[in-house]
Amino acid sequence: MWDKNWRENLWSQIGQPWDVLVMGGGITGAGILREAARMKLRVLLVEQRDFAWGTSSRSSKLVHGGLRYLATGQVGVTLTSVRERENLIEDGPGLIDPLGFLVATHKGDRPGRFTYGAGLAVYDLMALQWSHRYYSAEEFRLLMPYISRENLRGGFRYEDAQTDDARLVLRVIQEAVADGGAAINYVSADELLLEEGQVVGARLCDQVSGQTAEVRARVIINATGAFADGLRGQVGAAARIRPLRGSHLVFPAWRLPLAQAVSFLHPLDRRPVFAFPWEGVTLVGTTDVDHDAPLRDEPGITPEEVAYLMAAVAYQFPARALTLDDVIATYAGVRPVIGTGKADPSKESREHVVWQENGLLTVTGGKLTTFRSIALDALKSVRDRLPEVAAVTDKVPVLNAVDVELPGNLDELTRRRLLGRYGAAAPALVSAAQPGELDVIPGTVTLWAELRWAARAEGVVHLDDLLLRRVRLGLLLPDGGESLLPRIRTICQSELGWDDRQWEAEAAAYLALRRARYSLPERDRIPDWNAILRAAAEKPRASKEHRSRTRLVVFLALLVIVLLLWRRSRRSPEML
Ligand SMILES: Cc1cc2nc3c(=O)[nH]c(=O)nc-3n(C[C@H](O)[C@H](O)[C@H](O)COP(=O)(O)OP(=O)(O)OC[C@H]3O[C@@H](n4cnc5c(N)ncnc54)[C@H](O)[C@@H]3O)c2cc1C
Repeated sequence: MWDKNWRENLWSQIGQPWDVLVMGGGITGAGILREAARMKLRVLLVEQRDFAWGTSSRSSKLVHGGLRYLATGQVGVTLTSVRERENLIEDGPGLIDPLGFLVATHKGDRPGRFTYGAGLAVYDLMALQWSHRYYSAEEFRLLMPYISRENLRGGFRYEDAQTDDARLVLRVIQEAVADGGAAINYVSADELLLEEGQVVGARLCDQVSGQTAEVRARVIINATGAFADGLRGQVGAAARIRPLRGSHLVFPAWRLPLAQAVSFLHPLDRRPVFAFPWEGVTLVGTTDVDHDAPLRDEPGITPEEVAYLMAAVAYQFPARALTLDDVIATYAGVRPVIGTGKADPSKESREHVVWQENGLLTVTGGKLTTFRSIALDALKSVRDRLPEVAAVTDKVPVLNAVDVELPGNLDELTRRRLLGRYGAAAPALVSAAQPGELDVIPGTVTLWAELRWAARAEGVVHLDDLLLRRVRLGLLLPDGGESLLPRIRTICQSELGWDDRQWEAEAAAYLALRRARYSLPERDRIPDWNAILRAAAEKPRASKEHRSRTRLVVFLALLVIVLLLWRRSRRSPEML
């Protein structure tokens, strides 16, 4: 789809009038592009860096209803998320797959078994299923052998799902482009064009060639995530975004082997944190702290966040005796949360917003999981400017059905993975593979052939696009894949059309970025988490007031669900 000259070709036509201009190539922009293309609108998406460069490649990779949002009373977010999770599991096997979650309950835990049980019942009811179950301590230890035995009472198992976030963005963009949409990376929207005080377009800059162009569209959409206030400021709107950073540690699966995800309350602040298997490694996350660094710089984990996450694993998996030497990679992302000044960042709402300001439509906040519902909300709000568009509907699959045969004798897991991640392009990927390239890259579940295909046909501009987002070797391998670079070069350099000098410059830039932002900070700056845990153990547990508040939220959530289900059953099936 994206052959060698695709950027130049698209740039040469960029000045044409568009129906919709979407600024931002994360999951929000991708979702809007997809739905607008489905409606046969002339739609262009521009992304200042790489597709999914922002938060959408740095999430926890869960497609989930957000049990934790239920606890903070965000019932609407949970209900929409559960519905979208079910749609995505159905439409994207191999890209979005169910994942079991375990939640342990301990003696004296608040919330305890009753509250969790009630919360999970609500959660399941929202999906019209009953997937959760309680296990005794002995049974629970069979499901999770390394969990701390101290005060263990038992625990629940329930179901959510997970994905590869960057590949989800790519697949959505690719399906939109196949449907007539246009998308280009490394093109920034620098300045909004205003006529009579209304936004009518944007001045774009190609970050590769340095060329600029003025683009006009009937609808201008700001889907720049945590950056949204930058463009809003150009129409005089006051800043509303509170950038909150969330970071993760990556462990090799053999050091922290998990068959399913584990969710538990962090011993320091009782926030839910997770450890879960993903792409052959184990991820531990996440934090939720104010992010004060400039947004244009890649975010990275801080020493304090490392200590916080190490404290979580030391508390929950003491038998594994994990140390910093076990960490193979780190990553951090910035949540585009709408700030209301709450002292505790985790109490800020995760609901998305759609704002219209002087003709600029800003869509931000929300979650990866709910991207399609966010996109439809955005397009619904501008129907007066696109009167020819048919009704906005969610009664079509989010992702296209992939009904293709793959050549060769691939095992079922590989077949499913390729169809999910590459959609309709999967057969071409397999056909392009050279001898030996359908083998997995050691220590991962990624095929060598995925590298060749991404280099050839997936809009790679820099090496970090390839190694951090098209495939995820930068997160999955201890050295970010440095020792494999000679073989990667043999496969990819000519596909990318780079000469030796360009390859070497790209490799050096990638390794420097990997060290600076995807590795641990200097060890001597990381606080001693064991000392922090000891100090915390002396503090009293959650107050009675907190307990009764949580129960009240669960009760209210049940009430709201019943009302919403009743309302939905009375709504016309076609229109949103
Ligand atoms: C740590 C963490 C964990 C999370 N975990 C989950 C999870 O498990 N499940 C879930 O559902 N959600 C999760 N989320 C939330 C989810 O990841 C985000 O809500 C979502 O990715 C936001 O997507 P976005 O497209 O709005 O923003 P982004 O992905 O940040 O995309 C915005 C893009 O706009 C580009 N841009 C900025 N300015 C310009 C400009 N002037 N011109 C052109 N382009 C521009 C940026 O480069 C960026 O790529 C998590 C978030 C974080 C931080």
